Amino acid sequence: MNIHEYQAKELLGSYEIPVPRGRVCLTADQVERAAKMMGGRCMVKAQVYAGGRGKAGGVKLVHHPEQAQDFAKELFGRKLVTKQTGPEGLRVRRILVEEAVEIAKEFYLSITLDRESSRYCIIASAQGGIDIEAVAQKSPESIHVLTIDPFAGLRSFQARKIALALGLSGSVCEDCVSLLLNLYKVCLAKDCALIEINPLVVTKAGWLMAMDAKITFDDNAVFRHREYPDMVDYSQLDPLEITAGKYDLAYIKLDGSIGCLVNGAGLAMATLDVLHECGGRPANFLDVGGGATREKVAEAFKIILQDSDVQGIFVNIFGGIMRCDVIAQGIIEAASEVRCTLPIVVRMDGSQVEEGKRLLTESGLNVQCSDTLGDGAQRIVQMLG
Ligand code: GDP
Ligand code: MN
Repeated sequence: MNIHEYQAKELLGSYEIPVPRGRVCLTADQVERAAKMMGGRCMVKAQVYAGGRGKAGGVKLVHHPEQAQDFAKELFGRKLVTKQTGPEGLRVRRILVEEAVEIAKEFYLSITLDRESSRYCIIASAQGGIDIEAVAQKSPESIHVLTIDPFAGLRSFQARKIALALGLSGSVCEDCVSLLLNLYKVCLAKDCALIEINPLVVTKAGWLMAMDAKITFDDNAVFRHREYPDMVDYSQLDPLEITAGKYDLAYIKLDGSIGCLVNGAGLAMATLDVLHECGGRPANFLDVGGGATREKVAEAFKIILQDSDVQGIFVNIFGGIMRCDVIAQGIIEAASEVRCTLPIVVRMDGSQVEEGKRLLTESGLNVQCSDTLGDGAQRIVQMLG
């Protein structure tokens, strides 16, 4: 689960991590007033669920309130397309106005989960800022990584080692040690999958400060934090993803033309691989999970059909807990309701498979049944020609 920069900064601020003074605004008039409050000269920052805003024109230093207002009008009026949003871009509904800070040096700092060691790790570089991806490629030796032992936690000496590796000394070095320890506290207390501060800066006045912040909460821990659901900005999400979430379905958008309805993440991955091997391109996949009901399959099917990129549907379900006749009923119910004429290939196996196939063949839908994954994938690719 993602949150906006301004929310991430509020959270960091509450853990004594220095962030610039700022105000989030919903209208261009509010932006003007906030800019006045900051004394005219300030940073105006589009709040979207994506990075790369600086390079895409979503972050601007302005010199007086009217300029802030004009820039806000421009941002609210269009979608922001950055390297991370895809060509569609994201609509700007909130803007953060912050005091402008004189930057002496920019650093990169993050804490994230290292899947190999199953531990949190700190990643830091003295070459922070908007080109961190290029730094990671061209000079990986300038990126420092420290894996944290979950039992010992992060120790001061380890944090100091990072601060020294960043070239900090004196009081700024000690500020960095406290900042790192506090950052790790946030990580644990809030169940973060990622906290990224890029750039962390030393100001010309000699203070350490988080100029940008991205926080991702671990989706599996959302239930432990009652305040999280209210923090979501739905304007930043794919409407189909929101609908899928309501029915407890996992929907992932991709860029091809075949909609995929599967049960289980492993089977989903295998399905995508085999489709690719047969020359097909998945438009999405929807995982209905283990014990889906007829209603759930029907909802899943409708969600897939609402994706306008879908030209054909491939259902690949192993009926272990789920009965194949129930799946067939769900498909027929949904397809008839929305008058689906698209080609459908259903590969299912498991209990009541013969009955399921009979229901589908007699349904009058444009459907073919298949016994194996390879054959099913080939068929849907052929049907789309
Ligand atoms: P991102 O491009 O989406 O990561 O957005 P950032 O919040 O990182 O902003 C992009 C860049 O704007 C930063 O790397 C900074 O160089 C610059 N920036 C952000 N805030 C300030 C500020 O208060 N003063 C100055 N001088 N530059 C800033
Ligand atoms: Mn940034």
